[in-house]
Parts: sequence; C-alpha cells; structure tokens
Amino acid sequence: MNIILLGPPGAGKGTQARHLVDTRDMIQLSTGDMLREAKDSGTEMGNKVAEVMARGDLVTDDIVIGLIREKLEGDSKGGFIFDGFPRTLAQADALADLMESTGQTLDAVIEMQVDDAALVERITGRYTCGECGEVYHNVTKRPKVEGVCDNCGASNMKQRADDNEESLRQRLMEYYKKTSPLIGYYYAKGQLHTVDGLADIDDVRASIASVLD
Ligand code: ADP
Ligand code: ADP
Ligand code: ZN
Repeated sequence: MNIILLGPPGAGKGTQARHLVDTRDMIQLSTGDMLREAKDSGTEMGNKVAEVMARGDLVTDDIVIGLIREKLEGDSKGGFIFDGFPRTLAQADALADLMESTGQTLDAVIEMQVDDAALVERITGRYTCGECGEVYHNVTKRPKVEGVCDNCGASNMKQRADDNEESLRQRLMEYYKKTSPLIGYYYAKGQLHTVDGLADIDDVRASIASVLD
C-alpha cells in the first residue's frame, strides 16, 4: 500500500509516518529529511538548497523528483509513505508517471486538516532526536526524561533552523499557493481522504488506520 500524507508544515505528517513505519513495515519517504541530509553532508545539491530551505521557499521540482525517483527503484517493503511530497502539481504528475513506470499504484492520499493558528505552536515547539529522528514537542509530546530520547536513549535533541515564525509564514504561503491545489487534484481523482489533524496523536493514528484498513 502506497500513500501520501498531505498537509501544511506542522500538520503531523512526520509523526504519523514514523508510526506507520513501526507498525506496518512501510518506508517513509520524506523529501524534507532527504534535503536536510544533503545539506548536512555538504553535497553540491545540499549547498544549493540550504538558503532556499532557510527562507521557507520550495526547492525546485527537478531536485525533489530526482530524490524520489531513486527511492522508488529500491525495496518497497510494506509500501511507501510520501511525507512532504508531492508539493506542486508538477510533482504530483511526476509521481504518477514514476509509479506507473515502476508498476506501482498510489492507494490513498490522506489530507491532515489543521487550522493555521495551531501550526505556529506546533512548529515553534518542535524538536527531534538527532540520532533516530523521533519527533517531540515541548508541550504536547515531551520525552519521559527531559532531553533524553524515549526511542533510542540518546541525549542529542535538535531544533530545525527553519522552525521559527518568520520561516513558517513563508512556508505556509508556499503551501497555500502551490501545495493546497493538490487537495482538489486528488479529490477529482477519487483518492482523497481527510482526517482531523487537530485531534490527539493517538486519535489521528486511529483515523489514519481506518482509512488504510
Ligand atoms: P515540514 O515538516 O515543516 O512540512 P519538510 O521537512 O517537509 O517541512 O520540508 C522542509 C523544507 O524542505 C521545505 O520548506 C522546502 O524548502 C523543502 N522541501 C521539502 N520537500 C519538498 C518538496 N516536495 N518540494 C519542494 N521543496 C521541498
Ligand atoms: P509535519 O511533519 O507535518 O511538519 P510533525 O509530525 O513534525 O509535522 O509535527 C509537528 C509538531 O507537532 C511536532 O512537535 C509534533 O510532536 C507535534 N504534533 C504532531 N502531531 C500532533 C498532534 N496530533 N497533537 C499535538 N501535537 C502534535
Ligand atoms: Zn532517538
């Protein structure tokens, strides 16, 4: 089963994707994570996208489509979760072509609905484990021991450089201008499912599970 998690920055895509990886042996394909990896390892592409990401603008379609293409050629295990991809209509069309050429199907698009006011708190409170990528929040999802990852035991929490209000505003603008048309696109294709992303993490898990089962 291959699915897209669609929603603005802070909607909870990464949090839910990690749970699906743990429980359904799916593979999370987060273009944001891939781009941050490229940036941290200082590849030519990483250096090129660093400033764009810091501003909160979208990286060019060619770059992210190339990243996804590589992954689709590998093992698909319990299926792919596209997290933060596609973000433009061109990316959505490219994904459809890629899936067709690798003999795969897109089974569901899950839109995580949240209101904008919640996003500022979600984003400014977000931090992640630098070792395993577990996602935390300073109000809604704190580790059991402050600063220590519940999942892997490391003490290496990180906050993203672009998780500030100014960059969030730009990322939201990009979302409404370029990504939100995908909601209509997938609705028209009969693939759209909507879940309430404002509910508690466990309730969102349950709504996603009922779409998948
Ligand atoms: P969030 O989790 O807040 O939604 P991501 O980690 O998905 O953010 O993305 C971080 C940044 O990486 C984006 O602001 C954008 O600059 C870039 N990016 C990630 N995915 C894409 C994509 N599919 N197309 C273009 N840019 C992307
Ligand atoms: P996205 O990948 O869509 O940008 P994340 O999964 O990183 O979103 O979640 C953004 C922040 O909100 C994180 O700090 C996360 O712990 C928190 N969060 C995620 N889902 C919920 C939820 N349902 N209720 C409250 N906080 C949440
Ligand atoms: Zn960890």
